[in-house]
Amino acid sequence: MTHQSVDIAIIGGGIAGLWTLARLIKEGYQAILLEADSLGSVQTGASQGIIHGGTKYALTGKLTHSAQSIGQMPQRWQACLEGRGEVDLSGAYKLSDHQYLWSNKSIASRLTGFFASKVMSSRMGHLKPSEYMPPFNHPGFQGEVYQLDEPVLDIKSVLEAIRVQYAESIMQMRVGDIQSDSGGYRLGSIADNIKLCAHTLILTAGAGNKRLLEILGQEQPQQQLRPLFMPMLKASKSVLPGLYAHCLGASALPKMTITSHPLDNNQIVWYLGGEIAEQGVGRTDVEQIQAAKAELQKLMPWMDFSSCEWSVLAIDRAEPEMPDGSRPAEPEVFRRNNIITAWPVKLAMAPIMADKILAKVQQLGVALNARDTAWRAEMKNKPVQADTGQLPWEKVARWLK
Ligand SMILES: Cc1cc2nc3c(=O)[nH]c(=O)nc-3n(C[C@H](O)[C@H](O)[C@H](O)COP(=O)(O)OP(=O)(O)OC[C@H]3O[C@@H](n4cnc5c(N)ncnc54)[C@H](O)[C@@H]3O)c2cc1C
Repeated sequence: MTHQSVDIAIIGGGIAGLWTLARLIKEGYQAILLEADSLGSVQTGASQGIIHGGTKYALTGKLTHSAQSIGQMPQRWQACLEGRGEVDLSGAYKLSDHQYLWSNKSIASRLTGFFASKVMSSRMGHLKPSEYMPPFNHPGFQGEVYQLDEPVLDIKSVLEAIRVQYAESIMQMRVGDIQSDSGGYRLGSIADNIKLCAHTLILTAGAGNKRLLEILGQEQPQQQLRPLFMPMLKASKSVLPGLYAHCLGASALPKMTITSHPLDNNQIVWYLGGEIAEQGVGRTDVEQIQAAKAELQKLMPWMDFSSCEWSVLAIDRAEPEMPDGSRPAEPEVFRRNNIITAWPVKLAMAPIMADKILAKVQQLGVALNARDTAWRAEMKNKPVQADTGQLPWEKVARWLK
């Protein structure tokens, strides 16, 4: 049995943990990441991959001062994708350069003035009918389409781009027991023969943060879970075109947010978020599929979905608790002693979260020790590294008609 001590252990390998690891190592800190399962296996892999620029908040009238920082997220991620940003994502790729917004004629005409307003016109471009893409370039479509500056990313490629750069610092380990030990924390064993200690802990375990805080005896911060029940349908690409779009309903909240994800066999998955996923919570699988079929047919009556196969995913969004249970506007980062706890709230806002974590690490005065890599040599060639997980539609055992 050997003992290894690191300055910083990050617990949880979704986007929050991976982004933080990349930033800390780049800044010169000695850090490792511990992931219980595979990277991105919970919320991050299940996300729709949209890098929001704030349109959703503007539409709902919630473009507060703090939420405006989300407006910079598409540019910050774009710089990373081009290999000139804070995290090198040059190995990752976009599924779409834009998310689109569509609405039927009556809603669009009611909102014309709003769409033309200063706050909205800088965020969206109104497409001419000649510019409509499938499935909207059909005579059956009687509405308006807007183009938003919000790219959609292939999440697996994002996770993998970070994993390959820092693989030797990413270990598979479910942290279930943490003991305080003279100024640090004993975290248990990796690969049966390495006992790990860390001076500083960063909890980025999503919904798992609650359990870790309990183990550490911390009552704050409290966590809230907001459930979603996401329908998905698959068919050949000739039936389902690649579509990345929000459907705007009467309430100015997206009725449905569709993203498309290619499968190997020339098929495509449409993954449905928005109102359908929020309101579907509590339905059975079959009821939710029926509801999604009915809603899609209503929104796109000219399309034929009869050859599609269906599935659903129930998943919680984990966030810091809000007094009214609503979504926090920004990532929240808390520090008590040498324990930092963070929830990014949105995948898109991981960069803001990491800025806040870095500021707290600086306050703690953690040494810039990254060149001390002796401990990594010990880990090398041990079967302890975590891999990137499958996405929800790759895990479906049985699709339903
Ligand atoms: C259906 C859905 C769609 C979404 N779509 C979008 C979108 O389009 N755009 C957007 O910006 N945001 C989106 N979000 C929000 C976004 O996915 C989350 O905010 C973000 O992924 C949270 O990342 P995370 O790293 O904090 O958590 P997670 O991705 O949940 O990662 C936490 C990790 O910690 C690990 N873990 C837990 N406990 C332990 C332990 N004890 N020891 C070791 N490891 C542990 C887990 O295995 C997991 O891998 C969506 C969320 C959902 C649910």
